[in-house]
Amino acid sequence: MTTKLGPCSEKVSPRNDSWSRYPCGHSAKVVENGKPYCTIHAPSYVNAKHAKAIAASDAKWDAIHAERQDRAHRIECYPELLAALELALPAIRWGLTHQPGNLVQLQSCEVAVVFAINKARGTSELAHDKG
Ligand SMILES: [Zn+2]
Repeated sequence: MTTKLGPCSEKVSPRNDSWSRYPCGHSAKVVENGKPYCTIHAPSYVNAKHAKAIAASDAKWDAIHAERQDRAHRIECYPELLAALELALPAIRWGLTHQPGNLVQLQSCEVAVVFAINKARGTSELAHDKG
């Protein structure tokens, strides 16, 4: 059994001002707070839509916050990582000279370490043959 509720009682405005308001024009589907509303303007639908938008916004800000925390953590690790690489480089170069059996592995380590140190310092000071 369906009762005809008539038009939605909400007034809408294309320019979002009080001068250009006119009746919604959609058929009412629900009655809330004693007034008929369409499924766009019923207060419960409007509230649900706002709650969904707020949840989406919260999720977006949570993701931004998590990304900032991750970046801050990486920045905190920077001095230790650079110090470790700077300590490792002479050992790798010693190995290149004194342990020719590991030549291929040590050469690729040296290239990676020199690249990382140069990138961290923003320089190209550490030439391949220095150390
Ligand atoms: Zn409406």
